[in-house]
Amino acid sequence: MSHEDTTNPYVTMRKQLDRAYDSIDVDENIYRRLEHPERLHSVSLPVRMDDGTVENFTGYRCQYNGARGAYKGGIRYHPRVSDEEVIALAGWMTWKTAVVDLPYGGAKGGVVCNPKEMSEDEVERLTRRYTESVRNIIGPEKDVPAPDVNTDEQTMAWIMDTYSAYEGYTVSEVVTGKPVSVGGTVGRKRATGRGVSIILERAFEYLGKEVDGAKIAIQGFGNVGSVAAEILDGMGAKIVGVSDSSGGIHDPDGLDVGRVVEFKRNEGAELSNYEEADEITNEALLSLDVDAVIPAALENAITSEIADGIRADTVVEAANGPTTLEADAVLRQRGIDVVPDIITNAGGVIVSYFEWVQNFQQYSWDEEKINRELEKKLLKGFDDVVGAYESEDVDDLRTAAYVVGLRRVVEAHEVRGLFP
Ligand code: NAD
Repeated sequence: MSHEDTTNPYVTMRKQLDRAYDSIDVDENIYRRLEHPERLHSVSLPVRMDDGTVENFTGYRCQYNGARGAYKGGIRYHPRVSDEEVIALAGWMTWKTAVVDLPYGGAKGGVVCNPKEMSEDEVERLTRRYTESVRNIIGPEKDVPAPDVNTDEQTMAWIMDTYSAYEGYTVSEVVTGKPVSVGGTVGRKRATGRGVSIILERAFEYLGKEVDGAKIAIQGFGNVGSVAAEILDGMGAKIVGVSDSSGGIHDPDGLDVGRVVEFKRNEGAELSNYEEADEITNEALLSLDVDAVIPAALENAITSEIADGIRADTVVEAANGPTTLEADAVLRQRGIDVVPDIITNAGGVIVSYFEWVQNFQQYSWDEEKINRELEKKLLKGFDDVVGAYESEDVDDLRTAAYVVGLRRVVEAHEVRGLFP
C-alpha cells in the first residue's frame, strides 16, 4: 500500500482514523492492531460462461475487526473492486457498526466483474462459486454478508441457498437483505435510503436549516440514491438533479422523482436517455446551487477540484468513502459541513441487524416497528456523534464519528485482553 496514494480507499480510511486517534487518548498498542484487517481472504473463481468458455474471476472477503461481534458487511460486484477497496470498506463497516452500537464487527466482500455485461445465469453461477469459496469463513455467528453495489435480494437468496445446501438445512441468518419470502425483513430494501433522509433531516435541524423547500442534488440513483430521493421529495425537498453512471439530469424547479424512478425500473434504463429534463454531467451536478449534495455512488466522487466548486453548504455522504482526503480538507477549509458516511448510510446495517435478530427468533416484525426502531437507533448514533463533536477536540463531524466508533472498538479490545 502506498501511503501517498490518496485515491486508495484504504489510505483514506486509515488517515481518517488517524485524525480521531490524534484527538483522543487511546492505548497505542490497541490502535496499532486496528490499522490492519484481521483477515483478508482472496479467491479465484472459475465460472462457466454461457458460450461454454470458463472465465476466472477474483473475489475477496475481508474481516477487518470482530472485537464487538460477528463480522458484518456487504458484497460488491464491480470491475473496480480491489483488495484495498474491500479492506477499506470492511474498515468503514467496523467504525459504522460501532457508531450505531450494533453487536457486530466489520467485513466486506467483492468480486472483480462487470455484471452489466453478464447474463443472469452467469451472475448466479459466479455467486454460487463465490459462496462455496468463502463458506468456511462466513456463517450466522461468524460473518454475515449483505447487498452492496450491483448485488441485491436475489444475490442474497443464491448465497443463502448455496450455503444451506452444504449445511443440509435452511440457514436464513447467514445473509441479510434477502427476499422477504425466504426470511428477509420488510423495510430492509429501503433502509439505507430511508436512513439517509432521517440523518439529513436531523443534520439540517442541527445546522438550522429546513428540509421543506430545500434543493438537493444526488449523485448515484441506485438502491440508496433513488430511495433517498423519493423520501426527501415526499418530505418537501426539491430534488433538482440526479445521476447514474451514464450521466445526469437536471431541473431547477425539481424533478418529478416518481417518473424518474419509474423510468429507471425498466431493465438497463440509463438516465442519459431520460428526455423530460436537461442533461448535466456528474461534475456539474455536484456543483449545482443547492442546499445539500448527496454522493450516493462510489468512492472518490468528490475530488479537491470538485470540492472547490461545490456551492452547497452541506454534503451528506450516502456512499462509502465518496470524499477524497484532499477534498475533505478543502471542504473543511471552506466551512462546508460534511455529514460522514459512517453515520449517514448506517440505516442499511441497522435493519440488517433487525433481520438477523428476527431470523434467530423465527418471528417477524411489522414495517412500522422496523422503521420506528431504525429511526431510534440511527438518531441515537447521530446524537452520539454530535455529542463528541461538541465535547472533544475535533474540527469536523467525520472525526467526531470516528472518535465514537474508535472508542467503542478499543473498549471491546481492552476488556477482552490479548490472547495468548
Ligand atoms: P447500486 O448498485 O444500487 O447503485 C449505484 C448507483 O451509482 C447506480 O445508479 C450507478 O449507475 C451509480 N454510479 C456508479 N458510478 C457512478 C458515477 N461515476 N457517477 C454517477 N453515478 C454512478 O448501489 P447502492 O447499493 O445504491 O450503493 C451506493 C453506495 O451506497 C455505495 O457506496 C455503497 O457502498 C453504499 N451503501 C449501500 C448500502 C446498501 O444497503 N445497499 C448500505 C450502505 C452503504
